[in-house]
Formats: sequence, structure tokens, C-alpha cells
Amino acid sequence: MSRVYLSNYNTSYEAHLVKGMLKNHGIESFISNENNALLFPHLNGMSGAGVQLSVNGEDASRALALLENQPTDTMPLCPLCGSERMVPDFKNSKIQKMLFVAATLLSGLMFAKIKKPYRCLDCQNSFKI
Ligand SMILES: [Zn+2]
Repeated sequence: MSRVYLSNYNTSYEAHLVKGMLKNHGIESFISNENNALLFPHLNGMSGAGVQLSVNGEDASRALALLENQPTDTMPLCPLCGSERMVPDFKNSKIQKMLFVAATLLSGLMFAKIKKPYRCLDCQNSFKI
């Protein structure tokens, strides 16, 4: 039984999410390189680096099909019209970010989340997520 490399992830968290999804579909998968990815995170994303997920050869095509049909949550939906056609809206955002970073450094709240501005291409609604 041979293992087939399936995909690469920046964090073990992402790899374990996919492993759980595959397990829910009855596919056993294997995570490797987890410690190296944690110790050398600057190498993640390079060829062969990062947390690697593999499956048994006979499950490879089914696992790949499941991965391709995974919903992506990288782009938000417009809260007004529900459109997926979004572009980052950088109008004034650099100044806002610089002010926010300065205020954050001064106040010591280093881990506050910066909301990113987006603009909907369908209804022109601007919003932050
Ligand atoms: Zn919209």
C-alpha cells in the first residue's frame, strides 16, 4: 500500500481540519512534516515545506475530488446583496492602518485584529471584515 502526497498546508491546524473532513468521508490520511513546519515557519509555502497531507493510493482520486469541492472562505460575501464579487478597498486604509498600528503599539494591545475593507462590485457597498 503506497501513500500519495495530497496537499501542503502552512499550519498543522489547516492540515488537521482537512484530515478530519477526509475521515468523515471514510478516507484515512496521514500528516507529516508537522514539527519542521512549526520550527521553520518561514520555509512554509516553499516547495516541499509545510505540513504535508497524504493518503493511501487507492483513496487519492476520491480525496482530491473532495478537496476540489471544498468551499473556500478566503473571499467574504457582500452583507448587502450576498455577491461574491469583492475587491479589497484600499481607499484611506493605509493611513487608517498606520494610525491603528501606532495606537496599538502605544496602548500595548498587540493582538487586536485589523479589519480589512472590501467593496462589492455589484452594489458598490463598502464594508470591513
Ligand atoms: Zn453587494
